[in-house]
Amino acid sequence: MTKTFEAVLISRDEEKNQSVDWVEMTEDELMEGDVTVAVEATTVNYKDGLAITGKAPVIRRFPLIPGIDFAGTVTRSSHPEWKEGDKVILNGWGVGETHYGAYAGRARVSGDWLVPLPESMGVRDAMAVGTAGYTAMLCVMALERHGITPDRGPVVVTGAAGGVGSVAVALLSGLGYHVIASTGRPAETDYLKDLGAAEIIHRDELSNPARPLGKERWAGGVDAVGSHTLANVLSMTSYGGAVAACGLAQGMDLPSSVAPFILRGVSLLGVDSVMAPKQLRLEAWKRIGTELDHAKLTALSQTIPFKDVVKAAGDIVEGRIRGRVVVEMG
Ligand code: NDP
Repeated sequence: MTKTFEAVLISRDEEKNQSVDWVEMTEDELMEGDVTVAVEATTVNYKDGLAITGKAPVIRRFPLIPGIDFAGTVTRSSHPEWKEGDKVILNGWGVGETHYGAYAGRARVSGDWLVPLPESMGVRDAMAVGTAGYTAMLCVMALERHGITPDRGPVVVTGAAGGVGSVAVALLSGLGYHVIASTGRPAETDYLKDLGAAEIIHRDELSNPARPLGKERWAGGVDAVGSHTLANVLSMTSYGGAVAACGLAQGMDLPSSVAPFILRGVSLLGVDSVMAPKQLRLEAWKRIGTELDHAKLTALSQTIPFKDVVKAAGDIVEGRIRGRVVVEMG
């Protein structure tokens, strides 16, 4: 008898109403790919929340298994780089958007999309980092490439109590930066300080329309929020500084002016994790494996069973999740 596994399947009817079902599937029903992976851990990113709730058009093919990232063990491979038993991570590449994703016992993908699990990490650690944390590392690397070193001054992290923000705070503080964490959840002050934040500011300071230029408060930043928040962050960035932008939790718009760019030489660094080239991913995951403090990673993550993944997806879009959520497949 063919072995089955459980999966979350999102479908849409003729009126474009979306439904989320738990189904039993077999490997034969998976999409094309040269590597099959037993999914051992996955996670809930903001994008997964948008996909499952249908609040944004993340899913571009129906029916689809959602879930944009996973860690697990290769069970079958015809790709030259991977063999049965290899531990792997997948982030993005359209998985959970156009290709069957992580919320299933098995995934079949292109071997070109996979990166090796760093030796110092287990599958659970990898998903405590997840796409949010790997994106935070891409942001840190973008700031470094731009010459934003700790001696240049403080750096701000917006959406600090969220997934990208929490990992960015931990990484930047570990590298010696003075981190200013912006959050709408002052109750998370101790949490953010334990992750390494030197100062906490309320996100209301940054969420209203920005002036073209404000007081110079930081040399750079990691922004997971977009909209007025990013405009304010830019307007308060000191001469020659840079801001890595990766998110849109407040909005996709950017109601800014050119003043920070043309009067202070500030740079806006775009960060995308989905189609990031493999070399960048390998470097990011290698650094995560060696530079992210294990105790902080434990502090910023909680674990839920697979059966609770749909509820957690609703919670993340409502801003009710602190840090990162690891989903254990059991
Ligand atoms: P989370 O939901 O975990 O974190 C988002 C945080 O943003 C919240 O915790 C909250 O932080 C803050 N926030 C939420 N709503 C608002 C609001 N209206 N105004 C101001 N701040 C708000 O999501 P993730 O960390 O997983 O993702 C963050 C963003 O980054 C998302 O937009 C996501 O789509 C994007 N992203 C982009 C990637 C890329 O490749 N470019 C990859 C991964 C994520 P607090 O409570 O501290 O105020």
